[in-house]
Amino acid sequence: MLNSDVLVLNSGFIPIRITSVRDAVCLIAAHRAVPVIEDDEYVRSPSISIRIPSVISVLGYNSFPQRRVVFSKLNVIYRDDMLCQYCGSRFNMKDLTVDHVIPRSRWESVTGRDQGDGFSTWHNLVCACRWCNNRKGSRLLHELGWALLREPFEPEYMPYIFVSFERAKQKGWLPFCNFNVRIIGVVE
Ligand SMILES: [Zn+2]
Repeated sequence: MLNSDVLVLNSGFIPIRITSVRDAVCLIAAHRAVPVIEDDEYVRSPSISIRIPSVISVLGYNSFPQRRVVFSKLNVIYRDDMLCQYCGSRFNMKDLTVDHVIPRSRWESVTGRDQGDGFSTWHNLVCACRWCNNRKGSRLLHELGWALLREPFEPEYMPYIFVSFERAKQKGWLPFCNFNVRIIGVVE
């Protein structure tokens, strides 16, 4: 229970991170945060009794951390909203891969550029489910009659917090999630 998640808002109620109940209770006890939404249960110690929060607001901090968008496989998957860019379906993280749209063996002949020039970049990588990735192999999209859901791009901004719709709903976080948070939709 002490390790379950708490959404942390800044003093302007913008979500800035997710922390544990343990840390949230410490912040409240130290008067550095106030609870915004609380459960019916308590954390008790000999000297203190605090209702377990699911959302807190930090006092006196109204900026928020800027995330520089680093190039990584995980960020490619997030950029594409966990949607396979080939079949258009949404999958759980465990079934998602990152695929080179133009495969390694074809890169030089298709683009006339060497591997160091653009092969593993935002523009040639997309989120793909493992089934589409397998089927595609080293072929080009037009050879399969496939099209990309969306042209790959380099994102300028990425939200700080990613959370699934179910989890945000269950925790009562949804009303606070309109900025700096990306809600990952329901898997159909
Ligand atoms: Zn797919």
